[in-house]
Amino acid sequence: MPLTLALVAHDRMKPALAEWVARHAAQLAPHALVCTATTGGVIRRHAPDLPIRLVKSGPLGGDQQIGGMIAEGEIHALIFFPDPLAPQAHDVDVKALLRIALVYDIPAAFSPATADLLVAGGLLARG
Ligand code: PGA
Repeated sequence: MPLTLALVAHDRMKPALAEWVARHAAQLAPHALVCTATTGGVIRRHAPDLPIRLVKSGPLGGDQQIGGMIAEGEIHALIFFPDPLAPQAHDVDVKALLRIALVYDIPAAFSPATADLLVAGGLLARG
């Protein structure tokens, strides 16, 4: 059964997430993707063939929307590249997204290296 994956990256990490998506585009293709608005725009430019559903930008509530979708069981995995070196105005939302991903124990990666391991571990092979 296809999965629904949430993809989110802070500004300086967006190129790394776009590169990760482009590298795994064939394996991502059968799955549904949900992105915060700005992240999704960047990914669309790098992988225009992948259908992406956009929610609001993270600082405008997008992280909370994705957290709500996780709580509803609508998101099966989270790929989230936060910027470890830049303060975020919406830091409480970032923490809430991390927390809710842990509460529901969905597969989650917070760095390119770990996201690669999720793929190597067969996450996307379920599609
Ligand atoms: P953005 O939001 O994709 O709209 O930049 C991501 C975030 O800051 O959580």
